[in-house]
Amino acid sequence: MRLGLTLPLLPMETLPSFVSHIAQRNGLRHVQDFVQDMDLSWQKILQLDPDTVQELADLTGADVEALVAGSFVPVGDGFFCFRGRDLPLSFLNRSALKYCPHCVANDRDVHGRTWGRVLWQLDSLQVCPAHGTMLDVLAPPSNARKLVMP
Ligand SMILES: [Zn+2]
Repeated sequence: MRLGLTLPLLPMETLPSFVSHIAQRNGLRHVQDFVQDMDLSWQKILQLDPDTVQELADLTGADVEALVAGSFVPVGDGFFCFRGRDLPLSFLNRSALKYCPHCVANDRDVHGRTWGRVLWQLDSLQVCPAHGTMLDVLAPPSNARKLVMP
């Protein structure tokens, strides 16, 4: 099945960011509702499960390799893999969403939306590599459900 309303995958966009934007494009406020409607698993999306990624490629028309190129995948034993390198999970900070306000403004000007970057999730990265400015931090939502990204 191919969704009638899709979006292009943007440069190095993470898979969760892309799925969140696809959910929003299809009129859903919560990405979990989209995932459930499509009979997918959010956990498998986060793990880049190959069958789930293929289903998302079929739904959106996006290339499978492009869908995973901007994301990290847990590989077990306390590590994740990003761009072919295994790094300790302790390198990631998933308790808050960091972003560069200049990148976000530029994204919206050029692409009409912004997207998550895996580099922003690295705990030790506090400065945007492109702009040299401190990353801002969004507090996690108070409810357990994930809102689609703005
Ligand atoms: Zn930036």
